[in-house]
Amino acid sequence: MAETILEAVDLKKHFRSGGGLGRKANTVRAVDGVSLQVKKGETFAIVGESGCGKSTLARLLMRLLEPTEGDAVFDGRSIADLKGKDLRALRRDMQFVFQDPFSSLNPRMTVGKLIGEPLEVHAPELSAKERRAKVAEMLGRVGLRPEHADRYPHEFSGGQRQRIGIARALATGPRVLIGDEPVSALDVSVQAQVINRLHDLKSEFDLTLVIIAHDLAVIRHMSDRVAVMYLGQIVELGTADEVFANPRHPYTRALLSAVPEPVYGQTRDRIALKGETPSPANPPAGCRFHTRCPFARPDCATRAPELREIAGGHSAACHYSEEITAAQAAEVTPEPPRRSAGAERRFAMYAEATSSQGA
Ligand code: SF4
Repeated sequence: MAETILEAVDLKKHFRSGGGLGRKANTVRAVDGVSLQVKKGETFAIVGESGCGKSTLARLLMRLLEPTEGDAVFDGRSIADLKGKDLRALRRDMQFVFQDPFSSLNPRMTVGKLIGEPLEVHAPELSAKERRAKVAEMLGRVGLRPEHADRYPHEFSGGQRQRIGIARALATGPRVLIGDEPVSALDVSVQAQVINRLHDLKSEFDLTLVIIAHDLAVIRHMSDRVAVMYLGQIVELGTADEVFANPRHPYTRALLSAVPEPVYGQTRDRIALKGETPSPANPPAGCRFHTRCPFARPDCATRAPELREIAGGHSAACHYSEEITAAQAAEVTPEPPRRSAGAERRFAMYAEATSSQGA
């Protein structure tokens, strides 16, 4: 088993919101007791709907936010009390790629300056010439050309800007790269290119990737392990293969039921969740998912489930996970839709191609 490079230890981040003029302030429990371990060299995905706390968790993991309680540990060392050169070293070792490539790059700086800036801070020993060479190298690594260094961000497409953001993040040679929805602001056609490039760079730079996403289809084929968040807490954690093939929490089942199957003829029954996601300022008692869970029982409203291991390395926070899984497995699998002769041929070709890849 690979060693742990990054760890969250019962991390909490509560924000005060509202208040004043005689009104009581609310406490928004954005992250509420998250513990997880990221292994060296893996791609670890954190998924969930908007407002579940995943982006806040990402910022806590690299101390862009101070936790209310708990700790983050990088390479065996708590990051809570790092200061001065130790904090700068953490910034060099862990870099962040932001969601929006349009606002995360300073429009008044050339691309060369944008990528060279972190080098000035973290590698002051480099001469101006060496820095320019490094910028040109990084542009090449993300599929851009050296002459792009003299241009400004507005001269590039969204996908190219995100590549510039990635080049900037990788310039200092980090060991961990955290991407907060790194492709969600891009056109679908460009998303795959950026994801593939990130995947290649992971091997080239010997990186550990932490990817934050709300779209499960995006992380399905690139992540080794997945943590699913709901209302500030992890409700399911396991290998991507296990979580996608055999989800153990009703919330994960519902999320996955909305993801189209990549193989023709395979379908999932769509699970419609009732109601809206409750406010993190006032999360439900007991299991936080009980107000929307199609399998909720009376005690779910009073008993909070722990995240517990259900199968090797696969955990879920649900009292009735085993019973729900067994009941669903007993159901008759619906017949796949009838295929046309052409679709039948394409399906056979696809099956042959995938089986020869696996051989
Ligand atoms: Fe649903 Fe109860 Fe499981 Fe929560 S503990 S996910 S409400 S069945």
